[in-house]
Amino acid sequence: MARDSRYDILFEPVKIGPVTARNRFYQVPHCNGMGWRDPSALAAMRGMKAEGGWAVVCTEMTEIHQTADVTPYVELRIWSDHDIPMHARIAEKIHEHGSLAGIELCHSGYTSSNLWSREIPMAPTAMPTSSSFNSPIQARTMDKEDIRNLRRAHRAAALRSRTAGYDLVYVYAGHGLGIFQQFLSRATNMRSDEYGGSLENRARLLREVIEDTREAVGDRCAVPVRIAMNEFLGPNGLEPAEVEDAIGLMAELPDLWDLSLSSWEKDSQTSRFSEEGFQEPYIRGVKKLTTKPVVGVGRYTSPDTMVRVIKQGIMDMVGAARPSIADPFLPRKIEEGRLDDIRECIGCNICVTGDFTMSPIRCTQNPTMGEEWRRGWHPERIRPAGSVKNILIVGAGPAGLEAARALGTRGHKVTLADGRGEAGGRVALESRLPGLAAWGRVRDWRLLQIAKLPNVELYLESEMSPETLAEFGADHIVMATGSTWRRDGVARHHTRPIPIDPGADILTPDDILDGKRPKGKNLVIYDDDHYYMGGVIAELLRKEDYAVTLVTPSHLASSFTKASLEQHAIQSRLLELNVKIEANQGLQSVAAGHVTISCVFTGRTRQLEASSVILVTARNARDQLFQATVEKINNLARIGDCFSPGTIAAAVHSGRKFAEEFGSPLPDFLDLPYRREVIGLS
Ligand code: ADP
Ligand code: SF4
Repeated sequence: MARDSRYDILFEPVKIGPVTARNRFYQVPHCNGMGWRDPSALAAMRGMKAEGGWAVVCTEMTEIHQTADVTPYVELRIWSDHDIPMHARIAEKIHEHGSLAGIELCHSGYTSSNLWSREIPMAPTAMPTSSSFNSPIQARTMDKEDIRNLRRAHRAAALRSRTAGYDLVYVYAGHGLGIFQQFLSRATNMRSDEYGGSLENRARLLREVIEDTREAVGDRCAVPVRIAMNEFLGPNGLEPAEVEDAIGLMAELPDLWDLSLSSWEKDSQTSRFSEEGFQEPYIRGVKKLTTKPVVGVGRYTSPDTMVRVIKQGIMDMVGAARPSIADPFLPRKIEEGRLDDIRECIGCNICVTGDFTMSPIRCTQNPTMGEEWRRGWHPERIRPAGSVKNILIVGAGPAGLEAARALGTRGHKVTLADGRGEAGGRVALESRLPGLAAWGRVRDWRLLQIAKLPNVELYLESEMSPETLAEFGADHIVMATGSTWRRDGVARHHTRPIPIDPGADILTPDDILDGKRPKGKNLVIYDDDHYYMGGVIAELLRKEDYAVTLVTPSHLASSFTKASLEQHAIQSRLLELNVKIEANQGLQSVAAGHVTISCVFTGRTRQLEASSVILVTARNARDQLFQATVEKINNLARIGDCFSPGTIAAAVHSGRKFAEEFGSPLPDFLDLPYRREVIGLS
């Protein structure tokens, strides 16, 4: 198919200094938890974006020097010439598909604690370093020699970048992570010399480094600046008006302005808290200040919205991190007129959790993300079946849907059966919770793809039993029957069941998702799961006018969501809704009408009134059907939550993994089939 002419504008080339992008799709720098540790995997992942049509593909932040060491996070490094081959490979993979390769050079100032190098961190003004562990480390105030050295280090890194083959070499002043932002902002710059005080002075270093970089590599490489439009600190930090003034001071100096919000939490907001295009109010003033191309982000997945932001003059190139992760082939699909094949990002930030847990990036929508090199997976292709089999999949949740889609694409004859009247499993139910509607895209995309496959049939309201399974006579049966939330309080804090009075009104998330509601108005939600579920049920029921107390053994509500950048927003929302949060408390026992909680530190107990209790704890695999048939039926497998309850991303990945490996001899446990990078000894 040909592309619709109304999207032509998206495929116009854009000149960026000395280089030209072949279209307006721009993969902005994004972290991925692979960095210097997994460079071949990283190169393959970036190459996939280029193959999918992104005209510019950038690296994540790249430490320019050992004084910019962000350990324990695993980002790229370009500290010395030793790092050049790794970068050359990344640039080469991007060039293979005709895209421009960008590198985001970074010195992180007070946000690098230098835990690896043990160099004393440095910043515009002395202050404790910011780190997840509140490490007892302070950055010192940079003197003039430090500033000269920083400029020299940035210049040296720029030259190495050019040698490696990059086409764009960034000056990074974003996310609170780039030191030039720390100089620009009065929140972090209290200097009284020519680098502090007035805006001109605070912008001085940024201007100097843009000039240095252009002078060093500008003959061949474009020099973009990534800048934070707002720090959300009010007049104590950067706000759009002042950043626009700063941009006005050097409007034509860089080759491109790449706009973002600070900190990362504000920049990569989840769909629970923001809509597509949420950054437009902050960035729409910039284009009138400069003739240079402007890039903005905002989780754009709709081509019509992309056309709108270009036509309205908000940006020249559509920036994307997450939409390019969920669908590396998004530009090609628009170009080929295959809009309904676009796998839209759901805005869940599971991708970000990879970076925060220092593990390779993963994505809920795109199970091949991070697996391009080590497992050889491709987001758009899968090897055809050697011999076609008749496969029955029980359960049309994310695991079953992905397995059916991928096995069907391979050419197998697939029957997908679900007992419920709608497909989607937990995704269908959870997408009805406040703010989670976009999660339904996990189901919608797969249903659309399955509908295009004549060899895949979906049957709803088809509860399977050991008898119907045996009768069906499939060559292979895959159980994707999901999981159920536990009712006994067992999870991390209590590994044995909590004493619960039989007269107590106990519910689990399954009950709430099924539409049941507590008997009384006075609720305790006990959250020993720590991801989104406890917090989102608290939000739901508070909005339905229940009095809600969230009890958790953690020190924070929904504490894992720190890794998805949402914790602050979740706890603020709960507090604004007057949800009471009892942190650092276990649930010792439940009686009719009250619960006893106990401090995780002292063991001191207290009673709280509770007409009903919702237990958000661990889940059990819903594997009864599997257990009842495993001895009787050959060729039976389990995937997704039915194998072991996890995230939706894990269920999708599990479905894909089954489909990828199906028909091959099972690998020996000691010879798992993924590649890893082994460091060459020096
Ligand atoms: P996962 O996350 O692993 O995909 P889900 O819980 O989202 O798991 O989905 C499991 C699906 O399996 C649900 O839609 C459920 O209705 C379905 N299911 C469970 N048991 C049976 C069964 N015996 N027969 C048919 N469908 C079943
Ligand atoms: Fe989007 Fe979630 Fe995938 Fe990240 S993990 S790209 S937020 S779907």
